Amino acid sequence: MSAYDPSNIFAKILRGEMPAEKVYEDEKTLAFMDIMPRTDGHTLVIPKAPARTFFDVGPDDLAALYASVQKISRAAVKGLGADGLTIQQFNEPAGGQVVFHMHVHILPRWNGIALRPHTGEMAPKDLVAANAEKIRAALR
Ligand code: AMP
Repeated sequence: MSAYDPSNIFAKILRGEMPAEKVYEDEKTLAFMDIMPRTDGHTLVIPKAPARTFFDVGPDDLAALYASVQKISRAAVKGLGADGLTIQQFNEPAGGQVVFHMHVHILPRWNGIALRPHTGEMAPKDLVAANAEKIRAALR
């Protein structure tokens, strides 16, 4: 296991050094759209506190993170009219992790529609923005 590296892309998003299509933010968590969505509405939720993996998140931050995951999941399913939901969370390269700031994937699902590949194709920005707006609207 390695130490937290603050040059990772999600740390840059948190510091405002990289753009992101944000859908929700509170004191301890931030949620934004995945740029290579495996489903329509694919959203990532991260703790603001630095943490490489699941094992590095303190109990208070973990509770806040999963409260946000539930809140955004409800909004994503409602806003996009999904039939179901998959939640994924990867740790270390062996576990499928690619970006080393801990994050939870929210994947709205529809009957009969398979997940697209992990870190597959970039989606058109306007489609991602339109799905983000549906989630933000359902959160209001
Ligand atoms: P993983 O670390 O395996 O959970 O996957 C990292 C996820 O981050 C993938 O789903 C990527 O599509 C996504 N991703 C990578 N760079 C960005 C970015 N700049 N903004 C939003 N999502 C990203």
